[in-house]
Amino acid sequence: MSVLRNIVILTGAGVSAESGIDTFRDGGGLWEQHRVEDVATPEAFERDPDLVLRFYDMRREAIQTKAPNAAHHALARLDREWEGDLLIVTQNIDDLHERAGASRVLHMHGEHLNAWCTACDVRSRWTGTLIDRPACPECGKAALRPDVVWFGEMPYHMDAIYDALREADLFVSIGTSGAVYPAAGFVRNARDLGAATLELNLEPSQGTGWFDEARHGPATEVVPAWVEEILRP
Ligand code: NAD
Repeated sequence: MSVLRNIVILTGAGVSAESGIDTFRDGGGLWEQHRVEDVATPEAFERDPDLVLRFYDMRREAIQTKAPNAAHHALARLDREWEGDLLIVTQNIDDLHERAGASRVLHMHGEHLNAWCTACDVRSRWTGTLIDRPACPECGKAALRPDVVWFGEMPYHMDAIYDALREADLFVSIGTSGAVYPAAGFVRNARDLGAATLELNLEPSQGTGWFDEARHGPATEVVPAWVEEILRP
């Protein structure tokens, strides 16, 4: 590898696990006792909107009681101190990267604390409930849904993410199972374009063989250690 300047970091549910937010795969494919098909698809929302809205209302309330952990804080420090390009692409819909102080963050699967109006297409910051069908602050219609990307929907910011991967010298994947595409394919995009690749995860992910190097352990240990190493080579 030549000079290390541009870093793209992909994070998944594992980075928030030690903050007390459930991962998906670790629950045996269940998310808070629900099958993904029942709460995280457009078809589920059409079939039983109350179930889906209640599920996201509960999670929206719960994440506001959680705090960033040492892994979020280490990545925020890297974001502050790294002088080259850096992008944290997160699959997480919690706001723990931002609450730790990171600013170069893209939420490819949307955000719990946003509501999206399907009538006027405007997104509004939202910390309360949606089950009671509140009016959109912009257009007044009761057409708000969680601003999260459900299975079968197109992830956000894909052009910006692929642009960053093209320029990356290093791609790091943290706390993700490598099971959900397109994020699971980023490691191959990055390495095909010449980036070095590193996995930091509790255990080998499904895509672990694609990485040049893998370090396994809890995010609160392996992430701060890696950040320390990269800032003080
Ligand atoms: P995943 O649940 O499929 O995989 C989590 C990975 O994290 C696993 O490989 C697991 O071994 C690892 N892990 C668990 N605890 C860890 C720890 N303490 N330290 C390091 N690694 C740990 O999650 P995913 O790959 O992000 O994909 C699931 C989908 O579910 C995503 O699309 C995401 O949007 C969504 N999701 C989001 C949240 C959140 O916002 N916090 C939580 C659950 C699921």
